[in-house]
Amino acid sequence: MWKTVGQDHLIRQISASLQAGRVGHAYLLVGPPHVGKMTLAMDLAAAVNCRGEENQHDGPCGRCEQCARVSRGVHADVSVVAVGGDSQTPTRISIRQVREAENFLSITPVEGGWKVIILDGAETLSAGQSESANALLKTLEEPPERALLLLLSSAEEAILPTIRSRCRILGLRPMSGELLAEFLITEHGAESAYALWLSRLARGCPGWAINALKDPTVLERRTALVDDIAEPGSSPLDDRFSYANTLAGGFANDRESVRQTLYLWQSWWRDVLLVREGVSQHVQNSDRRADLESLAAATSSHLVVPFLRRIQETLAALDANANPRLALESLMLDVPAA
Ligand SMILES: [Zn+2]
Repeated sequence: MWKTVGQDHLIRQISASLQAGRVGHAYLLVGPPHVGKMTLAMDLAAAVNCRGEENQHDGPCGRCEQCARVSRGVHADVSVVAVGGDSQTPTRISIRQVREAENFLSITPVEGGWKVIILDGAETLSAGQSESANALLKTLEEPPERALLLLLSSAEEAILPTIRSRCRILGLRPMSGELLAEFLITEHGAESAYALWLSRLARGCPGWAINALKDPTVLERRTALVDDIAEPGSSPLDDRFSYANTLAGGFANDRESVRQTLYLWQSWWRDVLLVREGVSQHVQNSDRRADLESLAAATSSHLVVPFLRRIQETLAALDANANPRLALESLMLDVPAA
């Protein structure tokens, strides 16, 4: 019983490996934030440790003691390493954390199954700190028996090639809006029109939609971000640069939220394009239709299309450790004029 949703292409592949007893030692799980990387990692950790009686050995049974302990986060042989886990290095995974993870993997499994390390934020291993990356490479080259290393990242381009090449890559894809809405209705009791709207805002990422269902501040934050984005096109350059500076200032401590903001920029200008092209039924930010329409009327598709490409380039440049202030200021210069 997999908890992962919308990733049937990966579940098929992993189930076959599990059944054939050909599970790898290292996987790199990549996909946008909240798409379900941690859920899939937990499913994998449960699957290799599952002792369900009727289990076909092609996934976690979801009912045995092992599966339950993994899902509650109390399994002795499964450990999550995350950015911020070392107070000395709040923005990246530290060498100390990598060494502890290696020790953890090298000790015989307490509960008799597999040792599993889930390393969330694998791209931070390449941010000018070769020591941690080298320590990890050693483990990837000579993995202990029955040890599974799961690296999670939403910035695949930023993963060191030497790390990447030693992992099997599992690419998670955003779910279709219809599938996600159905999931929110059946599994989370969401009302159907609301589920449909949330599934559009979530851009296929179930984790974001579930957070928004549980926590109203998620939608409040999104509204505030959209307010900021809806403005720069018509605001003076000084204001746009000060916006870029604020965004860049937060990058060192929280690159993920800057990425999220740029994804929102993408979704906003994609919507402007859809309205311009007369297919506004597909817009994601449907609660801001009036803003989108007035912007669409004031700009041209010839400006919006290259700007969407510029956002993509900026995301890639930030992943490749470009100077965030320069990258974001330069993006602000290209905001389509209203
Ligand atoms: Zn089980």
